[in-house]
Order: sequence, then structure tokens, then C-alpha cells
Amino acid sequence: MPEYKGHCHCGQTEWTVEIPEEKHILCHCGACKLQSGGEFTLNQIVPKDGFRLTKGDLKVYTYKGDSGNNTDCFFCANCTCSPYHHQHVQGEDKIVIRTGLLEGSDKWGKPAAEIYDKDRASWQPQTADASFATVPGA
Ligand SMILES: [Zn+2]
Ligand SMILES: [Zn+2]
Repeated sequence: MPEYKGHCHCGQTEWTVEIPEEKHILCHCGACKLQSGGEFTLNQIVPKDGFRLTKGDLKVYTYKGDSGNNTDCFFCANCTCSPYHHQHVQGEDKIVIRTGLLEGSDKWGKPAAEIYDKDRASWQPQTADASFATVPGA
């Protein structure tokens, strides 16, 4: 499985993660907008075992996701850049990695799917072939 490197903006934290499939899932949800300061984030659900923090420490805060279950957001305490989330609704062995922070992931091409399309900004075009009002199966 290919391994990718990432780092936060200030450089105090670095990580590696194993990526089963080189693809982005674009998310338009309200939490992503607040956390990124932009209109969407790029993500993928990956095995938690494949993530390794190789420098620094992460802090965590917890919020309620749409499912009503807790989501833990892990972030650099200095610059707040967030490498991943843990949505407990996905199970304890999976995390949501921010694929846009991984070196070389800009070469993966357009997103494979878009989620929370209901929250897409009116001026934002759909770029993926598949899109879901919230999440697949909801
Ligand atoms: Zn940082
Ligand atoms: Zn989101």
C-alpha cells in the first residue's frame, strides 16, 4: 500500500499514512468549512493502523457529527492544521485523513465523489462524477 507524507503549516508536526486508493472525497459540510476556512475539504477513510505521527504532538477536541456520534478532531496545537478526524460512527479502526495535506496528492486528479452536496456553495461547480446530498447510503 503506498505511503504518503504530510506536515502541518508551522512544521511542528509531521505524519505518514498508508493510502489504500489514491483518491479524494470532496466534502462540502459545515464542519469542514469552519475548520478549513474554505468551501470544502479533501478526505478519504483509511485504516487507523496506517497512520503514524512522525514528529510533534497532536491535540484533540470532540464534536457531535450529523449522526449524533462523537467525532474527534486531531490538530497541531501550534497552527491548528488537522491531519485527520476519528468519526466513531465509522468504527474504531478507521480514520478520515485530510488527503489534501499529503505530499503528491495533487497528482491524483479530480475527486472521486462529493459529499454534503446540499451544502455546496451556489458558485461552486460539481467536479466529481458522483455526488451525494449527505453521505452514501443516507
Ligand atoms: Zn503546526
Ligand atoms: Zn465535511
